[in-house]
Amino acid sequence: MSDLFAYDREREKKSAAKVRALEALLIEKGVIGSDSVDAVLSHFESVAGPFNGARLVARAWRDPAFKQRLIDDTPAAIAEMDFPQGMDGAEGEHMKAVANEPGVHNLVICTLCSCYPWPILGLPPYWYKDPVFRARGVREPRAVLREFGVSLSDETQVRVWDSSAQIRWFVVPDRPAGTEDLTEDELVALVTPESLMGVALARSAQRPA
Ligand code: FE
Repeated sequence: MSDLFAYDREREKKSAAKVRALEALLIEKGVIGSDSVDAVLSHFESVAGPFNGARLVARAWRDPAFKQRLIDDTPAAIAEMDFPQGMDGAEGEHMKAVANEPGVHNLVICTLCSCYPWPILGLPPYWYKDPVFRARGVREPRAVLREFGVSLSDETQVRVWDSSAQIRWFVVPDRPAGTEDLTEDELVALVTPESLMGVALARSAQRPA
């Protein structure tokens, strides 16, 4: 990973301290309740998060017809899942899936800010908001992908999708080889948040000993 992506080592600790101070102040002023922050955290731990995206992909891998519906009409395909209610709410109104295929790799960025499909991926990580990532992702996607550990052949076309408030993209990564016998739950474990944004491939299957 290039130094351009480096962050202050203390960043998490400093952010956490700021958040605690702000939360205490907002509670003291009566703006939020004492359990408001916990309720939001719990939402992103159990309702909206990358575990939903991973289930969509695992199902798409096992069911080509579902995969086609996911590409053609993403909200309708998502509505087929038994996801929690309210999945089409904040930051999830206009989601669109795009699938990797032989010779084509997809990468999602938001050049303007940090638009991200919250219901199926949760909150965006630091690197996704990084101005350098956002600029270089468009100008030299192959170099950026290499830094993330994704080496593509020269013949592979890279398609970069710019998420916005109008469309929030996510990637259906390729199904790794040798996963024909895996259960849906085992497939879910191979789908990382990074693979859903195109900065990684899905994990390889663990070979049985
Ligand atoms: Fe944005």
